[in-house]
Amino acid sequence: MTTPAPPQQPGQPPPQQQQDDGLDDAALAVAVAALLAGSAAFAVAGGAAAILTALRKRFALSSAASQALGSVLTMVTAYPPPLTGIIGAASAQTARMNAARRAQYVIAASKRVLGAAREARAKGEPVGAAVRAQLERERKFYTMHQQAMWNRATAAGRIDMEAAVHGNLLGWNAVHSKTTTPDCRKADGRNFYVDPPPYIGLPGIGPHNGCRCYPSAPHRGGKLLPGPGPLYARAA
Ligand SMILES: [Zn+2]
Repeated sequence: MTTPAPPQQPGQPPPQQQQDDGLDDAALAVAVAALLAGSAAFAVAGGAAAILTALRKRFALSSAASQALGSVLTMVTAYPPPLTGIIGAASAQTARMNAARRAQYVIAASKRVLGAAREARAKGEPVGAAVRAQLERERKFYTMHQQAMWNRATAAGRIDMEAAVHGNLLGWNAVHSKTTTPDCRKADGRNFYVDPPPYIGLPGIGPHNGCRCYPSAPHRGGKLLPGPGPLYARAA
């Protein structure tokens, strides 16, 4: 079903005329995430091909889009993320974040592959070579993604292990060096709730890529980092 174009706002540039490949359907990211989560089972029964068949049925993907998506899914399912368990609130939050990022990556990469194919076609260059070159670049991006996912999972595991010992309230510690960001420096010595996390996120995960902050027992007299507060504030 097509939705009517939104009325144009005065003073705004006209909406870009985009080819509708079905890749912009917001539900597609959710479906990709769900199917990737089950891809260990899918791996036995055809992996990427099985995922793609399921997606094509549910979303009106153009054949070019489903080819691009298929090539990215093949790459992503061939390099699955490290298996990380869920042992507490931090690893549960991180697993959800990783699943969402992975699905967003798949869709963004599919658009780039599709774009490379279109560009090559428009220039009269070989399409297959352009797609292979773009997939090679995507493989490198994806390696970085995997490293980032692994770092987040490791930091989350550390937080959950501390929480298992000390409870939902933990202490924040920064590693001080020239590269320590002001946010991390400010959070050092303060306390935070694991669930829900403070607004800056969890140590080693939230503030920025490559954050070296780590959790500990709550700091005695440490101020609480701003956040939504504990989910279950009522005293037991
Ligand atoms: Zn940090």
